Amino acid sequence: MKVIEHLNTNKGKTLFSFELIPPLKGESIQSIFDAMNPLMEFNPPFVDVTYHREEYVYKIREGGLLERKVTRKRPGTVGICAAIMNRYQVDAVPHIICGGFSKEETENALIDLSFLGIENVLALRGDAVKSEGSFIPEKDGHNYAVDLIGQIVDMNKGDYIDDDLPHPIPTNFCIGVAGYPEKHFEAPNLNSDMNALKAKVDAGAEYIVTQMFFDNAKYFEFVEKCREFGINVPIIPGLKPFTTKKQLSVLPRIFHIDIPDDLVTAVSACKDNKAVVEVGIEWAVQQSKELMKKDVPCLHYYTMGRSRATEKIAAQLF
Ligand code: FAD
Repeated sequence: MKVIEHLNTNKGKTLFSFELIPPLKGESIQSIFDAMNPLMEFNPPFVDVTYHREEYVYKIREGGLLERKVTRKRPGTVGICAAIMNRYQVDAVPHIICGGFSKEETENALIDLSFLGIENVLALRGDAVKSEGSFIPEKDGHNYAVDLIGQIVDMNKGDYIDDDLPHPIPTNFCIGVAGYPEKHFEAPNLNSDMNALKAKVDAGAEYIVTQMFFDNAKYFEFVEKCREFGINVPIIPGLKPFTTKKQLSVLPRIFHIDIPDDLVTAVSACKDNKAVVEVGIEWAVQQSKELMKKDVPCLHYYTMGRSRATEKIAAQLF
């Protein structure tokens, strides 16, 4: 079933969902099942699985030669999605990105997903490869998420890149996209980012999942701004439970978000990460309760591969 159908058939109710990241290459899929098992009692209608593109690893070989190795640290998104659908009968939402894909490779990836019975994708541009500094599209790939959405919408109409196909069958994907309550870091200002988001919705995105935020006021202002811009699709808030002290510096650096003073003070006062987990759970529960009171369509938790905190939060809410 499509995410938008889940949201529409449960109007007035806040659903529970979460995001998983594939295990490191060489590790077992069991970690995915271990993360999912305790969360199943909260009836997630859909589960997202992130996509991780290639990275360049540099090694100095004997003789001082510099060797560049291209590697993907966390492959397996599609396989995990298929395994989740099979094992749990829950809809899986693979993330699909522009980076590293030509249009033809995207087309072939979408055919794989379609053959697996996957009806949902979260369409993203992806970040720059670390060593490249800024995002460089693949040769004959997409520059922005909006262009990727255009390709998926075309395929949904049976219009493939390969125009020599005798009987191209339309795919049937529901498309979600990312939104940034605190602005995407590359956008020169909030209005230009809102215009980019509106373009994604106009192109065919049916719902938005937000970047994590720790101050609900930012989400409420974002929703208001979206409505002013004529963006009327459901906006799912993304929440991340704090679990380590290090995240005080890591999360703002990687995700370009603010941490409220009260949370900084509470986390800083913790004597170890065990105490941080408790603070993080309490903060996320309070955020979730306020969001539920405002009838958000779904609460979406970023587990980053560990579901214990999300389980404790969900147990207090769902
Ligand atoms: P876009 O919507 O393309 O926007 C990128 C930037 O370009 C923005 O600043 C926007 O304002 C600007 N822009 C857009 N269109 C135009 C235009 N036509 N002209 C000029 N400027 C424009 N990354 C991964 O690699 N894998 C994942 O699984 C993943 N999952 C994510 C899930 C969520 C919920 C979120 C919020 C992010 C996720 N990301 C993931 C990170 C995401 O790929 C990055 O934030 C990326 O930098 C932007 O992706 P986007 O789809 O928002 O890009």
